[in-house]
Amino acid sequence: MRANSKKPPKRLGLHEPLFEGNEWRYLKECVDTAWVSSAGAFVTRFEEAVAARTGTRHAVALVNGTAALHLALEGAGVRRGDEVLVPSLTFIATANAAVYLGARPRFVDSEEGTLGMDPEALEEYLRNGTTTAYGKRMDKGTRRRIGGCVPMHTLGHPAQIDRICELGRRYGIPVIEDAAESLGSSYKGKPMGSWGLAGVLSFNGNKILTTGGGGMVVTDDARLAARVRHLSTQAKSDPDAYRHDAVGYNYRLPNINAALGLAQLERLDRLLERKRRIAEWYREELKAVGDARLIWEPSGARSNFWLNTVRLPPVRARRALLRLAQDNIEARPLWTPCHRQSIFRPILTAGPLTTADRLWRESVSLPSSAGLTRAEVRRVVRGLALEAHP
Ligand SMILES: *Cc1c(COP(=O)(O)O)cnc(C)c1O
Repeated sequence: MRANSKKPPKRLGLHEPLFEGNEWRYLKECVDTAWVSSAGAFVTRFEEAVAARTGTRHAVALVNGTAALHLALEGAGVRRGDEVLVPSLTFIATANAAVYLGARPRFVDSEEGTLGMDPEALEEYLRNGTTTAYGKRMDKGTRRRIGGCVPMHTLGHPAQIDRICELGRRYGIPVIEDAAESLGSSYKGKPMGSWGLAGVLSFNGNKILTTGGGGMVVTDDARLAARVRHLSTQAKSDPDAYRHDAVGYNYRLPNINAALGLAQLERLDRLLERKRRIAEWYREELKAVGDARLIWEPSGARSNFWLNTVRLPPVRARRALLRLAQDNIEARPLWTPCHRQSIFRPILTAGPLTTADRLWRESVSLPSSAGLTRAEVRRVVRGLALEAHP
């Protein structure tokens, strides 16, 4: 076959950053002043701005969201031998963080309505699968302490975090929100990241706000924030004499990354408006594709609409991914659920994980960059529709 002489259509990535504010100015300031590394005014300014935005008292900027999960769990008291409740349907980092601390993840099912940790499944497990002994809540089978619970707000859509936090309080288990995907989202008017003992954000390149790479722990708990800050800077007890009181980490966010973050944050409201408009375009265009259901913000929630994701019959979902790739359109499945990852064997579960499996097999995430045009949304939907009627 002869090579097609037509130019391939423009590539549409899953989620590309949009820089239209003070990015250049702030980065230049870093270079001009030679404040580029893990100290500098932008780190503090960025932390203060994110704390204000999420309605929390303290924020600690770190190198990425995974490091933020690691130290937030440490600060919440997760220890070697503990178990940590995690949704099975999440990015691997949520579960890995427990393992870094010598704890083990125990997987909870998700629910259809929010794609988040299912509060019914969680309650059922805590009531029937756990018991209190020596003042600790522990799994009845393994006799391991439940050290924490880490719900995640999938694709920016808030989980039923009020119910999850209420269960955490009732059973004495700290809740740490994996809000890596949900900066700018809120539930019942309260920002994501501010509900649990601590919240974790990510500013990776494909997230709604990016610092290149970066993350943050937000919390109202001064002791937890101080602990995270201390451990993230090598746990120095006497910086001049190079004395250290713990085995720490080099996890602080550099000033140049924070500069990028601050410029992005200044425009977050406009970014959220664009994201909502793109979701509305998808909703309208997808009316033409009968078997595709767009996942929408749950009731009581305001989503940042990080990724637009449709549910399709599983065979259709797989074919749609291939078809869109042919059109130079980046679409993605959801993560293989954690209970299917051999790295976590032996797999610990908190009840059946059927909804997580179903959501995984049926979901296709579509290009959702803030700079997307209506014509591009139409092009993506046309790709989906063609697959439906080949
Ligand atoms: C992106 C993401 C992370 C990890 O963040 P990084 O900054 O990439 O380390 C953790 N959890 C979830 C749910 C994510 O989407």
